[in-house]
Amino acid sequence: MSSLVSDDLRERVARRADHLCEYCLVHEQDGFLSFQVDHIISLKHGGRSEWENLAFACAFCNRRKGSDVGTVSPATGHFLRLFNPRTDIWSEHFRLAGARIDALTEMGAGTARILGFNDSDRLLERHSLVAVGRYPTLEALAQIRV
Ligand SMILES: [Zn+2]
Repeated sequence: MSSLVSDDLRERVARRADHLCEYCLVHEQDGFLSFQVDHIISLKHGGRSEWENLAFACAFCNRRKGSDVGTVSPATGHFLRLFNPRTDIWSEHFRLAGARIDALTEMGAGTARILGFNDSDRLLERHSLVAVGRYPTLEALAQIRV
């Protein structure tokens, strides 16, 4: 759905995110596929192509998220919304353990599962980035320490 986002808005969203995926914190320069503008609340659920509803996302996170806005807790069966980069603080819900992204909250766990943060191919990609000093980047470290 990024066709509804102008090039100018895309660039501003990327800059606001320091060119990091706002979900997995991989830097745009290190993405195998080009990064995308995610509608946090998808158009399908009434979200709009507006500044406060947009996030910068790698192709993996954006594809896995799709139009989802939440998931169901395996423990309680209750609805859990997904992490919202506009209103939630990354380090309150996740922490890095090398290349792995560990969840600190139930919402973090649901988001990590739906977006496939620790799928084997994603871990392989981030292990390679860790090995060459590109994960986390300085921009990501700043984000983590907010
Ligand atoms: Zn990502």
